[in-house]
Amino acid sequence: MQMKRSKRIHYIDVTFSVPGRSVQGFTTRHEGVSRAPYNSLNLGMGTDDQNFNVEGNRSLLANAFGIGPDALVTVRQTHGSDILVIDEQNEDYSHFLGIESDAIITNQSNVMIGICVADCVPILLCDPKKGVVAAVHAGWQGTAAKLAAKTVAAMKSCFDCNPAELQAAIGPCIGPCCYEVDGPVRQAFLNSALPWDQFSRPSGEGKWQLDLPAANRDLLQGAGLPTASIQASDMCVCCHRELFFSYRRDKGETGRQMGFIMITEP
Ligand SMILES: [Zn+2]
Repeated sequence: MQMKRSKRIHYIDVTFSVPGRSVQGFTTRHEGVSRAPYNSLNLGMGTDDQNFNVEGNRSLLANAFGIGPDALVTVRQTHGSDILVIDEQNEDYSHFLGIESDAIITNQSNVMIGICVADCVPILLCDPKKGVVAAVHAGWQGTAAKLAAKTVAAMKSCFDCNPAELQAAIGPCIGPCCYEVDGPVRQAFLNSALPWDQFSRPSGEGKWQLDLPAANRDLLQGAGLPTASIQASDMCVCCHRELFFSYRRDKGETGRQMGFIMITEP
């Protein structure tokens, strides 16, 4: 992954093994139109930022990759484990904004799917052979619900994707350096039979530092992705104020960056 500036968008570029079949990356907070504390590329509709600023930012992102804002699909994220599958072309994708979901899969080209985050883990998946892509929102709840693995399973059942041929990118999120959690989070992991001790270390009475990207890497490997096919950013959004929004650091008053992916015409 490397920092890249494409037209007006500043983002972390992800290259998968079959270049040209898809474009994907993770936005930073730079070069948008929103004002503090949403400065400046706030792509989240659920914040207290002015709607016209968020819409302007979404247009900047879409236009940078040659599509209109109506072809940028995001959903109402709820920290749940529902998956939206888009398998046909739509005139306008804005109606998906009201659909509650935390992962999106599509086999349609020139439709950009995006997941908004400000601490949670954005995960991008691509089947370069079959032309199927996915974006996943995994905070501690989505991780405990194994949403990354469920999305891989849905790509397999809906589009016959072979997990061994999938590529994945785990984007910038809150790192174990800054992510202290308490008992209910630990309990959710234990309830899902996730190896808690492997992803956390004690940091005080009833407190732990949790490594969400490591847990999601493990889920993807468990779902059948080869280790070499999983890329991960090692950047903590909380540590990098100059580049990223962080809900925890900014006490809720902050914007959202986006993990985005789109199949280009073969
Ligand atoms: Zn950190």
